[in-house]
Amino acid sequence: RAKEQGRGRFVFYQAEMTERVQKEAELAHMLSSARFLQQLYMVYQPQFDCESGLLVGFEALLRWEHPEQGLISPLTFIPVAEKRGMIDDIGIWVAQHVCLEVGRWLEDGLSFGTVSFNISPVQLRSEKGVECLLSLLKSSGIPLHHFEVEITESACMDASDNTIELLESYVNQGLKIAIDDFGTGYSSMVTLRKLSACRLKIDRSFIRDMLHNTNDEMIVKATIALAQSLGLEVVAEGVESKEQLAVLKNQGCDFAQGYYLGFPMKSGDTINFLRLLDRKTVKRYRSYKYSPKYV
Ligand code: C2E
Ligand code: MG
Ligand code: MG
Ligand code: MG
Repeated sequence: RAKEQGRGRFVFYQAEMTERVQKEAELAHMLSSARFLQQLYMVYQPQFDCESGLLVGFEALLRWEHPEQGLISPLTFIPVAEKRGMIDDIGIWVAQHVCLEVGRWLEDGLSFGTVSFNISPVQLRSEKGVECLLSLLKSSGIPLHHFEVEITESACMDASDNTIELLESYVNQGLKIAIDDFGTGYSSMVTLRKLSACRLKIDRSFIRDMLHNTNDEMIVKATIALAQSLGLEVVAEGVESKEQLAVLKNQGCDFAQGYYLGFPMKSGDTINFLRLLDRKTVKRYRSYKYSPKYV
């Protein structure tokens, strides 16, 4: 009986695995045509200075809206794209769209600060891929100080010397580097220095629990102190309440991003938002009230 049960379980596991692989293959297939079917687009989430409340920039985030399945989270499809060799293409697509958008804002004379976008760890492992992406930014003609690339801690550790050197040469021309999801991976101070990062982004999970969990509160505090002593700027991710913002401000956090301050917005909404801020000359975080409730 035990044998039968064991075998049954094996068959069950195998079926589950096959199903997962099938789902992934299906997703990859859908994703490969998503760009051409115009199912992909970028959204822009505002970031504000904690002290002055002024708008300092946006994070560009990728969205996939499937006609039948609705919004599919990047947390679901980015890993599939990474596994299936599609992330380089998607990364280039993202950079192209960010350039187009930023170009439009500049033409309109809107002030928006810095726009950051995410680079996948897999993308970062390919020297050619990084070179292609960076030269795309440069050939856009947009001053590089308007751009920031977000790299996770572990990806930084993995980056080759050549890639780091290449990034460095762009940093010297104004590009900014942020370490994303800081606190969730392993990083050494050496890497932070070596990469000439400008900013640390404290992971959302710490911000979420910092008002109730002393450990998380300490981690946030320590990260801010670390950043300050290294001469880096700190961004708090996932700020959802007034109370969180107040504590962060108190602890000397430079910038904040989160639903309390503004949701990620589609292109048209972002332009309207920027125009409104310019007209009203309120670039302060109270202006989050003008950002549409769209995630
Ligand atoms: P991330 O880079 O850490 O991005 C922040 C995520 O937090 C975004 O989720 C954003 O919508 C969400 N967020 C912002 N404020 C709040 C808040 O107050 N509360 C909560 N609960 N969430 C908040 P999103 O857009 O679903 O992206 C998830 C992850 O997918 C990103 O994490 C990033 O790692 C990845 N991703 C997104 N766009 C791209 C892209 O263009 N390229 C690559 N390689 N990865 C991307
Ligand atoms: Mg990010
Ligand atoms: Mg993050
Ligand atoms: Mg995160």
